[in-house]
Amino acid sequence: MPVLPYPFDALEPVISGKTMEFHYGKHLQTYLDNLNKFIDGTSYESDTIERIIKQTLDGPIYNNAAQVLNHTLFFEQFSPHPVSNVPKGELKKAIDAKFSSFDLFKEEFTAASVGLFGSGWVWLASDKTGAVSIFKGSNAANPLTKDLTPLFCFDVWEHAYYLDYQNKRADYIKALWNILNWEVIEKRYLSK
Ligand code: MN
Repeated sequence: MPVLPYPFDALEPVISGKTMEFHYGKHLQTYLDNLNKFIDGTSYESDTIERIIKQTLDGPIYNNAAQVLNHTLFFEQFSPHPVSNVPKGELKKAIDAKFSSFDLFKEEFTAASVGLFGSGWVWLASDKTGAVSIFKGSNAANPLTKDLTPLFCFDVWEHAYYLDYQNKRADYIKALWNILNWEVIEKRYLSK
């Protein structure tokens, strides 16, 4: 299990301690337990999670491996006290190049997150040249399947927000922007 960089209730009121207890403690733990069960005795046992995802692309091993990585990146990208609410440096340049401005990017990413039908993930991803794009998909979607680097993600499965926001996904998405830790996201971008 990834170690949470903050206590369960630290992200309140955006994400409650109760949601963290279930989302991290139950949902992520279950994906991890299932992954370990599925790869037991297979060649995947000695692989990194990224390689398992790239080799499987679909099916039960992919689904559980991707859900483990997706949730790890999701939980690690937040901070109760982000130093900045906007990206800086090279990542800012890449976002401006693609979307004209951070505000327009935020608008498009928010619309993609609110509009994704059913359960899934919306990502900011980068390619080998450093160009960024929005990547989205159902269930356990992860940009590695398209050879892109995952930078940050919004989990739009109902289990991510139902206890705090019920059916109001748009309110949850709006609030998530306030706890994004851009220092972590910039590091992912630079280590691509
Ligand atoms: Mn989730």
